[in-house]
Amino acid sequence: MIYFDNNATTAIHPEVLEEMMPFFAEQHGNPTSNHRFGRRAHTAIEEAREKVAYAVNAHPSQIIFTASGTESNNTIIHGVADGYPESIFGYSAIEHPCVSKPVEALRKRGFASIEIPVDQNGLVNIEFLSDIPSNQPTFISVMMANNETGVIQNMPEIVQWAKKNKAIVHTDAVQALGKITVDFEVLDVDALTISSHKAYGPQGVAALVVNNKIDVVPFIKGGGQERGLRSGTENLAGIIGFGKACERAAANTVLFDKTIRPLQSYLEQHLVQMGAVIFGDQAKRLPNTSFFAFPRLDGVTLLTALDKKGFAVASGSACSSNSNEPSHVLLAMGIDKELAQGAIRVSMGVETTLEQVKSFITSLKMEIERLKQLAAMAA
Ligand code: PLP
Repeated sequence: MIYFDNNATTAIHPEVLEEMMPFFAEQHGNPTSNHRFGRRAHTAIEEAREKVAYAVNAHPSQIIFTASGTESNNTIIHGVADGYPESIFGYSAIEHPCVSKPVEALRKRGFASIEIPVDQNGLVNIEFLSDIPSNQPTFISVMMANNETGVIQNMPEIVQWAKKNKAIVHTDAVQALGKITVDFEVLDVDALTISSHKAYGPQGVAALVVNNKIDVVPFIKGGGQERGLRSGTENLAGIIGFGKACERAAANTVLFDKTIRPLQSYLEQHLVQMGAVIFGDQAKRLPNTSFFAFPRLDGVTLLTALDKKGFAVASGSACSSNSNEPSHVLLAMGIDKELAQGAIRVSMGVETTLEQVKSFITSLKMEIERLKQLAAMAA
């Protein structure tokens, strides 16, 4: 089986797993306990915090460990809402539901919100931002790279607007970590989300990187862990694994650029020859992601056929793969609903080889021909 669904989750790197193992057994301990076990756990968490901070060029005190990217996004959105009750919430039309749904919840509480449209390449319409009233506190969230198309946003332009308008700015960098450079200081955002399992670390651990200039009210309240911003006993082994995975992020970024990007180009050249439409191909994209469709071919049918042939791909975002609705990202880009129903996403990983891509192309060609013949017979 060849795994081409790395934007959904990645396999834990063996060195990450090895680093985690002792923390499930002999090195257990609650980091808030004052005995040796607790102190050791506390030290290990602080070391991991330094590694995570280093990977995104932030200060360790700016790293808040959470249980998921979803939780980090909820923490910042609800935290800003409670800290700045008059705020308007802006978010791009292609955000992951773990940004759009919390904003929807705020709307029900009476907050104003603005969905920022994107162009046909999936890039945020910067001019639209000027429609946001400048006399009210504003929070905006725009993802660094999209999970479906891989399109990379023009963050400097968005942050420039935010600074000019004194808006709090957050970016969801879950898909960017370990694929392209994520630099908290250079980005100059107030908050940023990363998640371990998209970058060869374990599932169930993530971080919110947040500067101390903004007033974030804790979303999860309790014992006061993580500077009071995320109560609950830390996921010790998970955090250790996340730290170790982060040590590989810079090297992975180079590898993706040098080794995987050429495979993406090779694949897409063949896809175009086969008649595919590649979404967002005029914009800068992550080096591992190809989101495409063949007119009149259903995406889920093709995904199932490819699965039988030994290839794991996605038909859209992982979270919406249980629904037959076309991708909200593609609809926001103005893609025709019928074409959007055909969407297939290939997301390569650091371990992807040219042989794997070649064998995928061969199988894809065969399956497309077979499905077209079936469709012709049924017509
Ligand atoms: N943001 C983006 C862009 C994602 O792709 C995902 C996961 O698919 C998330 C957030 C959610 O992260 P997690 O799975 O850690 O909750």
